Amino acid sequence: MNVLTSSLRQLSDAIRKKDLSSVEVTERFMGQIEKWNPKINAYITLNEKALDQAKAVDARLAKGENVGPLAGVPVAIKDMLCTKGLRTTAASKILHNFVPPYSATVVERLEGAGAINLGKTNLDEFAMGSSTETSAFGLSRNPWNIDYVPGGSSGGSAAAVAGGMAAAAIGTDTGGSIRQPAGFCSLVGVKPTYGRVSRYGIVAFASSLDQAGPMTRTVEDSALIMESICGRDPRDSTTSAEAVPAWSKQINKSLKGIKVGLPKEYFSSQLGTDTRAAVERAIEAVKRAGAETVEISLPLTEMAVPIYYLVCTSEASSNLARYDGVRFGHRADFSKKPAEDLAEFYCRTRGEGFGTEVKRRIILGTYALSSGYYDAYYKKAGQVRRLLRQQFLDAFKQCQLLMSPVTTSPAFKIGDRISDPLAMYLNDIYTTSANLVGIPGMSVPAGFSKDGLPIGVQLLASHFQEQHLFNAGSVIEETLALKELPHVLQ
Ligand code: GLN
Repeated sequence: MNVLTSSLRQLSDAIRKKDLSSVEVTERFMGQIEKWNPKINAYITLNEKALDQAKAVDARLAKGENVGPLAGVPVAIKDMLCTKGLRTTAASKILHNFVPPYSATVVERLEGAGAINLGKTNLDEFAMGSSTETSAFGLSRNPWNIDYVPGGSSGGSAAAVAGGMAAAAIGTDTGGSIRQPAGFCSLVGVKPTYGRVSRYGIVAFASSLDQAGPMTRTVEDSALIMESICGRDPRDSTTSAEAVPAWSKQINKSLKGIKVGLPKEYFSSQLGTDTRAAVERAIEAVKRAGAETVEISLPLTEMAVPIYYLVCTSEASSNLARYDGVRFGHRADFSKKPAEDLAEFYCRTRGEGFGTEVKRRIILGTYALSSGYYDAYYKKAGQVRRLLRQQFLDAFKQCQLLMSPVTTSPAFKIGDRISDPLAMYLNDIYTTSANLVGIPGMSVPAGFSKDGLPIGVQLLASHFQEQHLFNAGSVIEETLALKELPHVLQ
């Protein structure tokens, strides 16, 4: 069995049956990290305690204890989630030395389910970006072609899994940051319904949009991780008390009676030919499994990116006010030239600590919230967001699932869009609506472009209806049966 290309499910079964030890599996991934991370830069910080965690799982297994559904499998955690005693940077200079005194609920639950934490993965600074190029710790590369971006902001998580440097990873998705890099790296990525997963201990970017979720090789693996991390958490009042189903055990590959909506605005002329062809193959697959397709219209789709960039920048300007260099994080060096006043103290610390994209968003958000502009921008964005939500709720009266591309084209070359923020923002056209509306979404591998770059298809379902994603996702996965591997795994 090839450890590096196996699913989380296969690995946890092998470890539970003692065909492999957690230590062996963890060492194998650590070897691949040593070999490829210098080139791909998927990780910012490695967890030096990973092997100890693996030994502890093996010891408990030897005693016949129940070690949980993710028994001994090494996973990677986006560096947006706090990990007790392990540096958490959000890929920002302002947090370069921050070691959290507690772990995020998601991390606690993963470890409780037996997973091994291999380390913290790279991202766009504070998860603001679509390429992982804005990281203060250097860019990450796409294991399918190292001249291309792995997507973002969870690009390090995607590169780690695609490159055989973790069996699965956790990402966060505020406007597409799980689904888009999953699409760019041929992985399954799930953004849960807003409120499914606790945000406690996750560095806040835009609190009304942020959700954490899995990035995996298979649909079943995503379901397994979701079962471990979802559910009410008293430490995050926005989490839902909705029961967490055993999704992985209920995957139904017959889609008879299922209606799949195809939103016509998502198939406009800007969609690339290879992407269109891949998405059409995935649509054929669900039809063959019994689903019926219907054309849907979501006319406010063109407003999703403008609303998103008002809401996320406004919330970010407020959330990021806490990085002032007083209690934690980076502080400018005032030993030679002391600050004249508090304003200068903040200016120098924040001016040094934040990168260009983060500053741009804080400025945009502060402007949109400022008196005189609030009604025209932030308030208006909230109103249109409500109308967008209504359009989705109406669409889900006609179908259980929506299918669309994840992006208009596959991964772009490193450097191609970084100096053009608008081009970068427009990358989010198909993904931001799910966050604004709060519905769950999944990216599933659907094929490759002529140049050999992965292409994903997006599935969207109504609030708390993730099972539809897992069902249709499994059908697409099984029917398309993609076997390609990136060269770093050959
Ligand atoms: N690309 C989007 C942005 O730049 C989404 C980021 C995210 O989901 N964290 O904001």
